[in-house]
Amino acid sequence: AKSEGRHIARFFDPGMQAAADRQAALERGLRDGLALHQFVLYCQPQFSVRGRLVGAEVLVRWRRDDGALVCPGDFIALAESSGLILPLGQYVLEESCRALARWTGDRTLGRLKLGVNVSVQQMRNPDFPADVAATLARSGAPAARLCLELTESVFAEDVHELTDRMHQLCAQGLCFSLDDFGTGYSSLSYLRRLPLSALKIDRSFVHDVHLDPGAGPIVNAIIALGRQLKLEIVAEGVEHEAQRSFLSRGGCGALQGYLLGEPIPIEDFERMYSAVGVG
Ligand code: C2E
Ligand code: CA
Ligand code: CA
Ligand code: CA
Repeated sequence: AKSEGRHIARFFDPGMQAAADRQAALERGLRDGLALHQFVLYCQPQFSVRGRLVGAEVLVRWRRDDGALVCPGDFIALAESSGLILPLGQYVLEESCRALARWTGDRTLGRLKLGVNVSVQQMRNPDFPADVAATLARSGAPAARLCLELTESVFAEDVHELTDRMHQLCAQGLCFSLDDFGTGYSSLSYLRRLPLSALKIDRSFVHDVHLDPGAGPIVNAIIALGRQLKLEIVAEGVEHEAQRSFLSRGGCGALQGYLLGEPIPIEDFERMYSAVGVG
C-alpha cells in the first residue's frame, strides 16, 4: 500500500506532469516534422590513415520550423519509444540510397561506403529486409556501397532471428558494421557469429587514447581483435593529431572525427568531394 501511495503521489507530481507534457509535445513535433520533411541528412567523411576519403556516415538532423537544428541525441530515444523510428529510419534509408544512386559514376563519391545508422527496432521488424530491397531497387543505389551500422543493443535480441535477418540483408550485397564497439553488451562470441564487415571503436576510447594509460591498450586490443577477425576498423571521434597518430601507428584502418571533417549537409558533402560532378 505504501508503494502504491508513492506511485499515485508521483502521478500527480507537477514536475512529472510537466515532463510528460514536454514529451507529448516533442512527440507531436516529431510526427509533424516527418510529414513536413523537416528531417535532413548530414554526412561526415571517413578517411584511411593515409588520408584517402573512403566513406561517410549519414547523421540525421531535425530542422524545426523555428529554424532550430536539433541533434539526434535529443530525439532518437523518443522516436524509438514512440515507434516513429520506423518511418524516420525508412526516410533516412531512402534519402541515403538516393544519394548513393546520384554518386554512381563519380570517381570519388562513387567509391565510398555510406554508413547508415539502423535502430534495433528496425532490425526487429520482419519486413525490414524486404523494405531495404525495395528501397535499393527503387533508388537504383548499388547495394555494395551501403553499410548498415548496428549498435550492440541488438545483442539483447533473439540471436537466431537477428543472424537470420542480417543474412537476408547481406544477400542483397550490403554490409554491416558494429557501432560504438566496447560500450554495450559486447559479447565477443557475437563477433564471430554475425556477418559483420567492420567495427567502429567508440569515441570514449578514442578520446583518452593518448592520455589515459588504460585506454591505449584497449584500443590496440580492439584493433588486433578486428584484424584477426578480418574486420575493418574505424575509429570515431578523432579530434586531435595525437589521437590520429596513435591510431595510425596501431594499425587502425579508417578515421572519423572533427579533426578530419565535421558532419555537413549531404548536398555540401557532395559538392565538396565530388570529383567529376554529380547529376
Ligand atoms: P553515432 O552513430 O555514434 O554517431 C557519431 C556521433 O558522433 C555523431 O553525433 C557525430 O556528430 C559525433 N561526432 C563525430 N565526430 C566527432 C568528434 O570528433 N568528436 C565528438 N565529440 N563527436 C563526434 P550525432 O550526429 O549527434 O548523432 C548521435 C547519435 O544519434 C549517433 O551516434 C547515432 O547513434 C544516432 N543517430 C544519428 N542518426 C541516426 C539515424 O539516422 N538513425 C538512428 N537510428 N540513429 C541515428
Ligand atoms: Ca553510427
Ligand atoms: Ca558510433
Ligand atoms: Ca555513439
